[in-house]
Amino acid sequence: MTGRTVTSVLARHARNRPGTLAIACAGAGLDYARLHADSIRLARALRAAGIDKGSRVAYLGKESVDYYSLFFACARMGAVLVPINFRLTAPEVEHIIRNSGSTLVLVEADTADIAHSAAPEVRAIRMDGDEFTGWLAGVAEPEPGERPAEPDDAVIQLYTSGTTGLPKGVVLAQRSFFAIADALDEAGLDWLAFRDGDRNLIGLPGFHVGGIWWAMQGFAAGVTNVAMPRFDSSTAVALIEEAQITTMCVVPSMLRLILGEPRVTREAVRSVRKVVYGGSPISETLLREALELFGAEFAQIYGLTETGNTAICLPPADHVPGNPRLAAAGRPYPGVSVRIIDASGARCEPGAVGEICLRSPAAMLGYWNLPEATAETLVDGWVHTGDAGYVDADGYLYIRDRLKDMIIVGGENIYPAEIENTLARHPAVADSAVIGVPDDVLGESVHAFVACRPGERVRVRELMTFCREQLAWFKIPVRFEFVDRIPRNPSGKILRWQLRERFWADRERQVN
Ligand code: ATP
Repeated sequence: MTGRTVTSVLARHARNRPGTLAIACAGAGLDYARLHADSIRLARALRAAGIDKGSRVAYLGKESVDYYSLFFACARMGAVLVPINFRLTAPEVEHIIRNSGSTLVLVEADTADIAHSAAPEVRAIRMDGDEFTGWLAGVAEPEPGERPAEPDDAVIQLYTSGTTGLPKGVVLAQRSFFAIADALDEAGLDWLAFRDGDRNLIGLPGFHVGGIWWAMQGFAAGVTNVAMPRFDSSTAVALIEEAQITTMCVVPSMLRLILGEPRVTREAVRSVRKVVYGGSPISETLLREALELFGAEFAQIYGLTETGNTAICLPPADHVPGNPRLAAAGRPYPGVSVRIIDASGARCEPGAVGEICLRSPAAMLGYWNLPEATAETLVDGWVHTGDAGYVDADGYLYIRDRLKDMIIVGGENIYPAEIENTLARHPAVADSAVIGVPDDVLGESVHAFVACRPGERVRVRELMTFCREQLAWFKIPVRFEFVDRIPRNPSGKILRWQLRERFWADRERQVN
């Protein structure tokens, strides 16, 4: 199975299962034959517009069937797709278009203006209008007879969502989409496997590695993928029931929203047989509630854009109520290695917390045009994740949190995720975020933002007592601040910089 590419899997399914619905989104749908044909037509149009092997083609829009045609078209001709988060502002979009050197940007009605103000000199074509149909129809050039793409060819450039600093373009190769599935298959492990006839919900947006990676897993298996223009939990619940979804991949905050939907019942989600989740820490409370609701197989995935998405998995067999391993992120896939290092770069003993480093056949080619940043992150094939964690004697990885989010109170290291996990156990708490704020005596102190469940209220004193029963004194938040909701990015990560801003505006924060 080695050597699969984005193009070869589509061509195979177009031959073997032409009439199977490949992608459905917002009332539109393409079967495998049509998706293949559309991607060839679009590849020709791209060629006619001057796009070549290695060219960057940007996409600024929501999920749509056309987005996937574009991805397959770019892959077919060796161009690199640069999907951009449609929620970004013009200066943010400008950074990505200019940094990537995109010479063409595909847009939709809602994003045409922003693309124009971001980079007026770059040609923008609307994919949802007559201009696009006319553009395709006007191309008569025969398909370019190029050499087929290779597994090591760059295929997508994803800008990490920028929860830290200016977004960098992570360049992933074709193999990033298949290396893990192939290794699992060879080892006879069905942790993430599909079955014929699966209907696969894509929860995450396609500009995020989790979205496009999961969609590609579905395409590679020849099943039906179902996407939403943008995630909202009420549409997700309706889709699960209407489309009889069997497999899905979501981030914990999506699970929380689904669980909070008034119309969600065990019956409504009965068709789901596998839930894959990851992307940010999950609280034990949320995981338990989700397991109860779905009654399905669960698999947790951990990884980064830089590792080509997942490198670690907590397989379904470990998702047994009461299993202490439910607190782990999982273990490496076959062919993936994990190593924990201390601040001096030396390897840590099992159980000792340090930086998580991962070596994976799916890892990125590098950051676009940033050789120094690439050399810092990708060292001898090891991705330095910037996450803190430890591996137990059985090889299970436990994530503490991001190193840069660690709070240091009078020399004690504190990981926000541990406190957030504790707060999640309180019945009135819907969501929380913990940050370090400046403290003249201790360096930093712990500040918690808390969003309560609808109709619930809780006193600060009660939260303090609740934390005191479960956490060491130095981890107990000094201040609690009630908010309506916790700011999170589309992949469910807490936007801590937004919360930190007002505290650290005039100070330098020390991070390891
Ligand atoms: P940036 O790197 O700019 O901050 P980002 O964090 O959104 O952007 P991603 O590559 O999507 O970029 O996120 C990877 C991070 O997500 C990991 O380093 C880790 O902190 C977190 N993460 C991913 N999966 C899990 C998981 N299963 N449990 C806990 N954290 C996770």
